[in-house]
Amino acid sequence: MKPFAYVRPTSLREAADAHATHPGARYLAGGTNLVDLMKLGVETPTTLIDLSRLPLDDITELPDGGLRVGATVSNSDLAADPRVRARYPALVQALLAGASGQLRNVATTGGNLLQRTRCGYFQDLSKPCNKREPGSGCAARDGIHRDHAVLGHSAHCIATHPSDMAVALAALDARVELYGGPDSTRTVAAAEFHRLPADHPEQDTVVRPGEIVTAVLLPAPAPGTRSLYRKARDRASYAFALASVAVVLDLDPADGRVRSVALAFGGLAPRPWRATTAEARLTGAEPHPDTVREAVDAELDRAQPLRDNAYKIPLARNLACDTIAALAGTRPGPPATT
Ligand code: SF4
Repeated sequence: MKPFAYVRPTSLREAADAHATHPGARYLAGGTNLVDLMKLGVETPTTLIDLSRLPLDDITELPDGGLRVGATVSNSDLAADPRVRARYPALVQALLAGASGQLRNVATTGGNLLQRTRCGYFQDLSKPCNKREPGSGCAARDGIHRDHAVLGHSAHCIATHPSDMAVALAALDARVELYGGPDSTRTVAAAEFHRLPADHPEQDTVVRPGEIVTAVLLPAPAPGTRSLYRKARDRASYAFALASVAVVLDLDPADGRVRSVALAFGGLAPRPWRATTAEARLTGAEPHPDTVREAVDAELDRAQPLRDNAYKIPLARNLACDTIAALAGTRPGPPATT
């Protein structure tokens, strides 16, 4: 690991100022991804600005009945919060499907969003990788890409985003709060927080230089809404998604039709993939399995699989159809927590 300086600011302003005055600095929270990448030589910050002692570790009520989750709330604490468990079951399921218990105890909400791809070539300095070294090429395209993207990729990068939590946040219409200075705060939709690679795969997110993720804002769920997160992976724990899905479903009790649905895929694209085509087809429809399958297929028709990852398309289709059926009560499935 290369030598680096370490600073521990006591306020957001101090942190942002430190970033502005230390070229090559990186913010540090739990460090579960960044420190690993530093050991590999993939990340070589000159300075680590430790945010873990800032007062960003609270979960507080919002006036609309939603929750504000501070950026340094650990994944374990978020998953254990009784309000989160009651209102956002898909988020809890996604958190508990991610990493190991030990990692969840340290990993933070903000860090989870900002974690980098687990593409093996990104972590291997001996291989070309446009995300790590722009313009060097993409070793995965003709290499081992079984785990890579089928949606939203580009000629420059085919990596997937590894977060489970971010998929649930996209389906829950969460927003991410960013601090860029005393007069510069903004929020962006969680579904728009991560970028598609296009010809700049080195930019994972829409975060501007020096901005700090300070919180995630969860809107109040509509009464009667049910949500579920499901994940397919190579082993039962501590593995990234081959495909995953978060569904938030609201059925009209009068006629059983879909009043609203949010569907997001993980493991398929460089960012959580909001399936807006499928959502539009399902809204107002009866959630009959054939209707659901047609809607999901309309979304997945856009997929462009590579040599070794076409299996993800039927996997994602079955996962989405079964998850919606479980929530709608139209097919046996795992219990849908309300
Ligand atoms: Fe790098 Fe992206 Fe290609 Fe992986 S898929 S080698 S991260 S450019």
